[in-house]
Amino acid sequence: PPRIRRLEESVVNRIAAGEVIQRPSSAVKELVENSIDAGASTVSVTVKDGGLKLIQVSDDGHGIRCEDLPILCERHTTSKLSAYEDLQTIKSMGFRGEALASMTYVGHVTVTTITEGQLHGYRVSYRDGVMENDPKPCAAVKGTQVMVENLFYNMVARRKTLQNSNDDYPKIVDFISRFAVHHINVNFSCRKHGANRADVHSGSTSSRLDAIRNVYGASVVRDLMEIQVSDENAVDEIFKMDGFISNANYVAKKTTMILFINDRLVDCTSLKRATEFVYSAILPQASKPFIYMSINLPPEHVDVNIHPTKKEVSLLNQERIIEKIKDAIEEKLMNCNNTRIFQTQALNSSALTQANTRKDKGTEVSTPTGEKSQKIPVSQMVRTDPRDPSGRLHTYWQGQTSNLEKKSGLVAVRNIVRSRRNPKDAGDLSSRHELVTEIDYNLHPGLFDIVKNCTYVGVADEVFALIQHNTLLYLVNVVNVSKELMYQQALCRFGNFNAIQLSEPAPLLELLTMALKDDESMSDVNEKEKLEIAEVNTEILKENAEMINEYFSIHIDQGGNLTRLPVVLDQYTPDMDRLPEFMLTLGNDIAWDVEKECFRTAAAAIGNFYALHPPILPNPSGKGIRLYKKNKDSMESAGQADNDLTSTDEDDIDQELLAEAEAAWAQREWTIQHVLFPSMRLFLKPPKSMATDGTFVQIASLDKLYKIFERC
Ligand code: ADP
Ligand code: MG
Repeated sequence: PPRIRRLEESVVNRIAAGEVIQRPSSAVKELVENSIDAGASTVSVTVKDGGLKLIQVSDDGHGIRCEDLPILCERHTTSKLSAYEDLQTIKSMGFRGEALASMTYVGHVTVTTITEGQLHGYRVSYRDGVMENDPKPCAAVKGTQVMVENLFYNMVARRKTLQNSNDDYPKIVDFISRFAVHHINVNFSCRKHGANRADVHSGSTSSRLDAIRNVYGASVVRDLMEIQVSDENAVDEIFKMDGFISNANYVAKKTTMILFINDRLVDCTSLKRATEFVYSAILPQASKPFIYMSINLPPEHVDVNIHPTKKEVSLLNQERIIEKIKDAIEEKLMNCNNTRIFQTQALNSSALTQANTRKDKGTEVSTPTGEKSQKIPVSQMVRTDPRDPSGRLHTYWQGQTSNLEKKSGLVAVRNIVRSRRNPKDAGDLSSRHELVTEIDYNLHPGLFDIVKNCTYVGVADEVFALIQHNTLLYLVNVVNVSKELMYQQALCRFGNFNAIQLSEPAPLLELLTMALKDDESMSDVNEKEKLEIAEVNTEILKENAEMINEYFSIHIDQGGNLTRLPVVLDQYTPDMDRLPEFMLTLGNDIAWDVEKECFRTAAAAIGNFYALHPPILPNPSGKGIRLYKKNKDSMESAGQADNDLTSTDEDDIDQELLAEAEAAWAQREWTIQHVLFPSMRLFLKPPKSMATDGTFVQIASLDKLYKIFERC
């Protein structure tokens, strides 16, 4: 075996340095943090060649004592920490004493500094941790100036990659901008070497909004809302967050997330994701958010020492904190969304007349709504995923239900397009309000906690998913919870839905006839009667079209065609195979004359339609694959195929259908994990009945088991 040798110290140091100073922007960050730690009120940064040629940071802080200069750039020399325990309460940004040292191992560092009361300052250069010469007296202005030249001159590969990639200057500007938003009493500037104008110039101010305006511009500030969260009731946990978040009018392609935890600039991917999720759930058409947050926790709750560049920290009770913040953002956004709706409403006189007629309820609403449909901007219509199997069921049912082939209108349903609608006042109908209150009244607090705080483990079978809550594992009936979630959302978004536009209007009569054909309880009713029932239901739906459009965004045109469906959950389209059944339920089961019952039954019908039922194509995994054999007879005659899966010949299987089924099941699984569970966490208020009706079943409570799942 090769010999094991001790690395030379210079090699060790250079390797370590490469970790702390990963790129020019990380050097800038360290230097600026040092200036802030030194109590500076002005920090100026100059950069040449993306930081590779020159980085210069000047401040007016307390300076460095002359007698400290010899060890200034040695590794692990710091004025900020003496005992390990101090880490628990450390307030300064630096504490490792590694930054300056690292820079001297990968670049040439020159420091000029003067302390208060001195007549002159000193200048000294460093290489590989040591001074190159004795400090030379020189003229100096208050504070310290650190110059780093030829960064990575001795790391050929790194220098090459950095030279080939985009230069680091934008990153540097980004860092300085973030610091400027947080440290509002420090005047930051950042410019390219030789440039007259600074690219960031924050000016010191006493107002956060001014600071944001100075750095990010007035247009950003216009769309910001203040947000504050605190959690001081719990004895063992105190956290405060304040910040600014963008409202529904803000437009941007990328999220800007400026996060300071105990005054440290950090990244927190899970908080960022959670925030983005809330935005996309509540303001689906809005852009990515702008977020500034400053979180303060007792220092002993934050471990600052988990990342070499201190870019990440770990927090006690991170999940809880994120949850709290998420809730607060959600509430803010909901409110701002309402305000915006209200403003649009006030200007729109036809909407006002509708608000008046609305009181006398469904059956008599008379305002024409024709003009509203024209408001959908065609440019915003998009196709859904082409692999979406909805509408393609005729291939499967061929031969079994020949009538399906006639339903060309329905086949077209697969091309679902989304559209945006002018939001309008949800109105505050008291019966709808009562229904929403009932949901709150029926809330099961234990289940609520489980839903809010569970971890999704995976799909267990066709109906159940597995979740973990603390040390307990539960099976959750996906169909039941999604049904309830959709019902509640239908009532929440009441009168204020976005719309799914069908690419071609679907004739009600055909939908209803189709539903009646499939309805087994109708098997002894003859064709003629079925047609009559379909006709009656079409009439009922047409009569109530105004109302269901107004309140539930189910739009039926004058020719008796369905053209639009509501968006009940963002990024989710119901299974169009269930559309006929939904129409039949609407026609048959809605109590049109009693307002509250009408809303309840309509919302329940929507809940049932939008719920995540298992796809109509059977699950092809495992033995289910036999169902996709082309020739069913041969399968039955070859009885042993039952036990011997491998004998299922590839050629025998209807590959296209199989692919479709697989896609449908995979899609469902994805939706359960990425749409259903996150939305449940945000919105679901589980009713008491779910504790006993088998929707939530506790299956294991072993700590060991918990550990196993944790690990995977
Ligand atoms: P750390 O910040 O972790 O202590 P550094 O290598 O960044 O380690 O800096 C070493 C020490 O040099 C600091 O503890 C501080 O005392 C001093 N120092 C560095 N930069 C400045 C500055 N701009 N002004 C005053 N003192 C500084
Ligand atoms: Mg430092």
